[in-house]
Amino acid sequence: MSKNSILYSVFQKINQNLQQFDPKFEIQNDDFSTQILNNWLSNLDTETYQIARQSQTEKPFSGEYCGLLESGDYYCKVCNQHLFDSESKFESKSGWPSYYRSANEFSVKTKSDKAYGMERIEVICSRCGSHLGHVFDDGPKPTGQRFCMNSKVLKFAKSGEKLDLLGEILSKDERENLANTKIENHAEIQNMDSKLEKNTANIVNLNDSINTILNNLNQNIINLESAKKQIENLENSLN
Ligand SMILES: [Zn+2]
Repeated sequence: MSKNSILYSVFQKINQNLQQFDPKFEIQNDDFSTQILNNWLSNLDTETYQIARQSQTEKPFSGEYCGLLESGDYYCKVCNQHLFDSESKFESKSGWPSYYRSANEFSVKTKSDKAYGMERIEVICSRCGSHLGHVFDDGPKPTGQRFCMNSKVLKFAKSGEKLDLLGEILSKDERENLANTKIENHAEIQNMDSKLEKNTANIVNLNDSINTILNNLNQNIINLESAKKQIENLENSLN
């Protein structure tokens, strides 16, 4: 894993934290995020990839979250963004996990989908653009909406259980590398600190030396002036 992707993982964590304060905060679509998106996608199993990136649909009643009623949060399996809460989950009998609203108004985006001769509204993750499912207007109160999702692109965490975001993004080896880099950086900082201390001591010594030289110079000027005076007096007496 490149240094950039390790840095990005850290950046991603900061991004997650920032999102709690400003949900509109989104990663910019630049080369850097393209690189990390490719990194996320490379870790996906084939079926999840086919749903998330090729808009396929899992077989009804096949997904692990279809009948799950446990209390917790549902995240994007690709980028770990918080997408849905168990409070809005309901039994739709459709064969896919269904929610009457998303976790917040910024977590998902919708767009028109006219594939297979149907007019539907596709739901995608607002952060990584992965296909999640569709939204219909035959849901229960209070929204009347039915977010019909694919289990395979979701990741569930029980209430009180936080996703290890760094762990999800980095493999075990990569995490060890990151820890080692941290130790190396710490040693480097200590080394730099002691160099700084030595340099400070050297500067103090240099300052003392410069003061001594300046004092000597002043004394020499005084001596020279006195010698000049003596020469002048001698010249006067000779005249
Ligand atoms: Zn996502």
